[in-house]
Amino acid sequence: MRQITNLRFENAYAELPPAFYQKKDPVPFEKPHMVAFNENLAAELGIDPAERQNPLLPEYFCGKKFLAGTDSLAMYYAGWQFGVYNPNLGDGRALLLGQIIDDRNRRWDLHLKGCGTTRFSRGFDGRATLRSSIREYLGSEALHHLGIPSTRALCIVGSEEKIERETKEPAAMMLRVAENHVRFGSFEGFFHRDEQENVQTLVDYVIARHYPEIPRHMNEGYGLFLQKTAEKTASTIAKWQAFGFIHGVMNTDNMSITGLTIDYGPYGFIEKFDRDYVSNHSDHFGRYSYGNQPAIARWNLEKFVKCLHGLVDEKHMQNAIESYNKTFSATYRELMLRKFGFEKETKKSLKFIEKTLEILTECDTDYHIFFRNISDVRRDGSLGENFWLKELFKTSGKWEQWLHEYTEQLSGNSFPDQRRKEIMDSVNPKYVLKNHIMETAIREAISQGDYSEIEKVRKIFENPFSDQPEHKSYAAPSPQWAKDLAVSCLS
Ligand code: AMP
Ligand code: MG
Repeated sequence: MRQITNLRFENAYAELPPAFYQKKDPVPFEKPHMVAFNENLAAELGIDPAERQNPLLPEYFCGKKFLAGTDSLAMYYAGWQFGVYNPNLGDGRALLLGQIIDDRNRRWDLHLKGCGTTRFSRGFDGRATLRSSIREYLGSEALHHLGIPSTRALCIVGSEEKIERETKEPAAMMLRVAENHVRFGSFEGFFHRDEQENVQTLVDYVIARHYPEIPRHMNEGYGLFLQKTAEKTASTIAKWQAFGFIHGVMNTDNMSITGLTIDYGPYGFIEKFDRDYVSNHSDHFGRYSYGNQPAIARWNLEKFVKCLHGLVDEKHMQNAIESYNKTFSATYRELMLRKFGFEKETKKSLKFIEKTLEILTECDTDYHIFFRNISDVRRDGSLGENFWLKELFKTSGKWEQWLHEYTEQLSGNSFPDQRRKEIMDSVNPKYVLKNHIMETAIREAISQGDYSEIEKVRKIFENPFSDQPEHKSYAAPSPQWAKDLAVSCLS
């Protein structure tokens, strides 16, 4: 395990032509302090978790001191935002410091968010709120531990600086870690400026870093790259849908080239099953509603695929889009079959899944709590000791009929009840990061300077599928006060 001053660190992105970035140093905080530090991720990166005690850590992670090898830069990108093309985005408040090369020779981007203005700030202040930093820290780690590809979060550095949002709020910086930070929008900027050479350079960069097995040449090689991109995107979106995650701002500048969930803003989890649910308060037309996500990702992918016009032919472009459809359907179906504990896909089981989702649409039952509990239904139709299920089936005739049909489906399974429960519990999380859980951690941090709840929540959500009886309240439905919590793009 290495100390922070002893990391293998460099920046491969800085070797690309200058059109790809603006070199820039962070604007540090006057008096930084540590808010949160993710020891488990540190260990995965080969950083000694005891570095948490290093008094200089906040200085390294707010740009006051530099890790040897740092070559920080703001990445250029463009993007389709709410259906409108914006040619001038880029890191307006974040910098890619470089990449850690761990002892297994894997490269990890360190990307510092909230560290001051860049050429791409468009008049905004280059800062991030402590509130949004906590939300990203907790959200990205929670998704990772659900098995959904995501950027990770290493630490949050706090400050005495206040920034103007809906009210004045404390500023913070968050250190994000990911295999890369290249976005669909990173290609779009060059494509729309007719700079095909830069598009190709970026494709080659991603292939070299993530798909060394793919040959870097026209059609076949680049076609394969498109297909992999489509498959990774589809697989992540299918997981979002099955786990009830809603991103909130699926602009193409927030779409990762390797299918990571990236840029956590007004994200959330559905509670009641509602395809029209919108988590982003500023999304007035519901473009990025929960139910629209698969189609929007496909729309975004189509925009991205076009950027390789000239490097691949139509057929390869079309194949990539078809791969998206196929992978999305297969991954989503497989996850849903497991959520129900069905052994095989049959016409009947798929129909039953659809029917269940329709019933859930019509009632207030919490999506996640529902799935977590139905693993207690036995093949003989009995409910064991499950109090929640007994209450559910008492309230509505619909559910009684549902139970009858569900047990009928289960009778076709060869899994014994216990085995099926294990399979179901491994895809039906007990703990879902609802807004009120983060809100409590945020309020304690802002009003009392007490950061303990942040780490407590992070740790609970490292094991979302395990029963943790001492943390029962984190698995409960949202309390009444949380129903009106609103999250917007302002962060
Ligand atoms: P986001 O909604 O966080 O994905 O950001 C969209 C674009 O706005 C990106 O180019 C960001 O870098 C930029 N941006 C968001 N907030 C700020 C800010 N406070 N200062 C400068 N740029 C920002
Ligand atoms: Mg963004």
